Amino acid sequence: MTKYLFLFIFTFVSVLLFFSCDRKVEKVFLEKITPIPAEYDDATVARLPNQGNKRSACKSKMNYVPDPEHLDHTPVKTVRVNFHIMRNAQGGGNFPDKNQGRVYVKKILQSTNQKLQQNAKMFLPLKNEIPNLPMCYQFELTPDASIPNDDGIYFHDDDELYHMTNYGANSNIYTQDVYKEYGIQKDSVMNIFMMGYHADSVASKTYKMSSNGVAFGKWTKVASWYYFMDATKWKTGEEIPFIDHWNSQRLLNHELGHCLGLRHSWGKNDGCDDTPAHSNCWNYTKNGSDCDSLVSNNIMDYNAHAGAWTPCQIATVHYNLSNKRYRVRSLLKRTWCQYDSSKTIRIKKGEDIDWNSAKDLEGDIIVEDGGSLTIRCRISIPPGGKIVVKSQAKLTLIGATLENDCGKTWKGIEVWGANKKRGEVVMINDAKITEAENPIEISLE
Ligand SMILES: [Zn+2]
Repeated sequence: MTKYLFLFIFTFVSVLLFFSCDRKVEKVFLEKITPIPAEYDDATVARLPNQGNKRSACKSKMNYVPDPEHLDHTPVKTVRVNFHIMRNAQGGGNFPDKNQGRVYVKKILQSTNQKLQQNAKMFLPLKNEIPNLPMCYQFELTPDASIPNDDGIYFHDDDELYHMTNYGANSNIYTQDVYKEYGIQKDSVMNIFMMGYHADSVASKTYKMSSNGVAFGKWTKVASWYYFMDATKWKTGEEIPFIDHWNSQRLLNHELGHCLGLRHSWGKNDGCDDTPAHSNCWNYTKNGSDCDSLVSNNIMDYNAHAGAWTPCQIATVHYNLSNKRYRVRSLLKRTWCQYDSSKTIRIKKGEDIDWNSAKDLEGDIIVEDGGSLTIRCRISIPPGGKIVVKSQAKLTLIGATLENDCGKTWKGIEVWGANKKRGEVVMINDAKITEAENPIEISLE
């Protein structure tokens, strides 16, 4: 009985507390609260370098470099992938043992993601200070939900389409038949075709079997892996190390890099100032050439060390994938369509943060007292998500669009008030709030 009495009192006190802390919510039409302080008149905004004009800020790809001090402001982008192992009609020539093929696919995907996570420091230019920033993107094996027991790894036995041949009578390097015939979930998943070598190429004493691939935007084909594996380095079984997968990830990250919009970087027409021109040496030599010392490790060069991406290359990928009209964006896992409270972004006291790039967020944004956030581009807030501007905080929207890119709604902006102060929201340059249940709500204590 005492227990229940205690519970009763506790509940009563809680209700009292709840009421005393309750904020009176007053809904205000958007038009009525768009104060524009003098320092933000349009002329001033237009003069701000690379910022006032929505077009220049959001379309400047270097603005998409993840901020290493606020990594949570760049949610990790996950590109969905599947794998197709192409074999001849007898199921031979390329991973005849399906179990081995499946283990290999998982290994190579793991090492491909691990290289992204490790992003190495650039070898070139020598003594450079280019930071090796976090990549903030990854690949995820994605089964087709409409296929029973699917794991996203497919085997196709086809005498016509199993091979990739660079030259000669069977040459087919740029043909797309294999994708047309066997592509799965083409609109939502990056298809990776692991090709075999033609039986004639394997039998030929002069055909050079090389490790190469071709990228076609939403899919890629790569050749070689099975053939280059030394029998002593792999066997069937989950615990086998598959040593060669570290070599294979180079090719996969390179081709997928092309799919995500990266170009070869040694010749200086890749649109990135931080990838130096060089002779594209495969590895170190001792022959008096550039290759004695100037060997790159950039993923978009041809070299034995590939595992480095520059800030501009990372920015290029994020810039492309943030663009709603970029066709590869449909291959992203729509992580921003699932509200996740652990992904809440807090702009803390003393912080004055500028977002000059489009973002797809997964949680709320809370601008704490003493914090300031300026948004200039498209920001997607997850379904049910909200923006809180505390009583001594400031949110500035300069030409920004706050939206939900999932065909659903988000809650809107909550402006808090306390001690006669109220959070400040400034909207200028055609800033828009769409898909919000209550675009701006003022809560007063
Ligand atoms: Zn290439």
